[in-house]
Amino acid sequence: MSKAIKKIAVLTSGGDSPGMNAAIRSVVRTCAYHNVDCVGVYRGYEGLIEGDFKNMDARSVKGIINKGGTILKSARSKEFRTKEGRQKAHENLQKAGIDGLVVVGGDGSFTGALIFNQEFGFPVMGIPGTIDNDIVGTSHTLGFDTALNTVVDAIDKIRDTASSHNRLFFIEVMGRDVGHIALNTGIAGGAEEILIPEEDLGLERLVESLNKSRKTGKTSSIVIVAEGDKIGKNIFELKEYVDENMEGYDVRVSVLGHMQRGGAPSCFDRVLASRMGVKAVESMLNGETNYMVGLINSKMELTPLDNAIKGKTKINLELLRVSDIMST
Ligand code: ATP
Repeated sequence: MSKAIKKIAVLTSGGDSPGMNAAIRSVVRTCAYHNVDCVGVYRGYEGLIEGDFKNMDARSVKGIINKGGTILKSARSKEFRTKEGRQKAHENLQKAGIDGLVVVGGDGSFTGALIFNQEFGFPVMGIPGTIDNDIVGTSHTLGFDTALNTVVDAIDKIRDTASSHNRLFFIEVMGRDVGHIALNTGIAGGAEEILIPEEDLGLERLVESLNKSRKTGKTSSIVIVAEGDKIGKNIFELKEYVDENMEGYDVRVSVLGHMQRGGAPSCFDRVLASRMGVKAVESMLNGETNYMVGLINSKMELTPLDNAIKGKTKINLELLRVSDIMST
């Protein structure tokens, strides 16, 4: 039987996302509820290697559920990718009497956690915190819903100026490998076209489609472009191409960038984070470790970290069809 867990550490790693603080709060308070000690680790795996720990009790996480970012800070650690770095991290955990580690982060952070577990047999648990929603084993990652709302708000504002000036706007949103943010916000923001990495529309068809919209009486247009779109051009080259091949529009570009990661988490993300923290800690206490917690069919479920890392999320084909019909 595995050793009883009496002390749990929590860290946030990789790109920050709204809801990470709510997840930290939930882990800390669930530990307190079960009389288990809890330790916060600063700057992800960097802090693990440096022993940058802080004891956390229920009161230490007051006033953070509504805050974006992460009070524990996040980092990308090169040293944790080395055996020596992970060895130091393990020694620090042992010195501090820590029996289990909850990692809030993306698939890179989970890969690190799994390697760590395989090397030292140290119990780990993952909470998916990334705005891209690119992790299998959960319908929603932490921060995805908030990022969608942030992007839709920005699209609405850009539309006001686009329609006042007969402009065509290309708006770049996050999503290097997946188009979940682009597809959802494109539909919600009433975009004429949505360009995502999973589908290559082709430049000619893009111009053809925008021309068709013009002929039906549209005087302004919004095209949402995921940053990893495979159409073969970056967003500024796309603008140039459309400028050269289409008349009558003043074409502009807006890259939303890091503002998509920030802001107060939505109600959905706060509730999700609270549920994930409870599930992560209680599963560990029940001896179930090396899983990622996730939302599947509205329930909290566990997915082996291995599967969560290897899998690739699929774009929702129904949403693609809806977006096609809506741009008629
Ligand atoms: P995001 O989705 O926001 O990019 P992420 O968790 O995928 O988040 P990464 O930068 O890929 O972010 O990974 C975070 C950290 O996890 C890395 O800086 C590194 O310390 C650790 N990590 C990633 N891959 C490995 C690996 N193969 N071995 C050991 N550690 C790793």
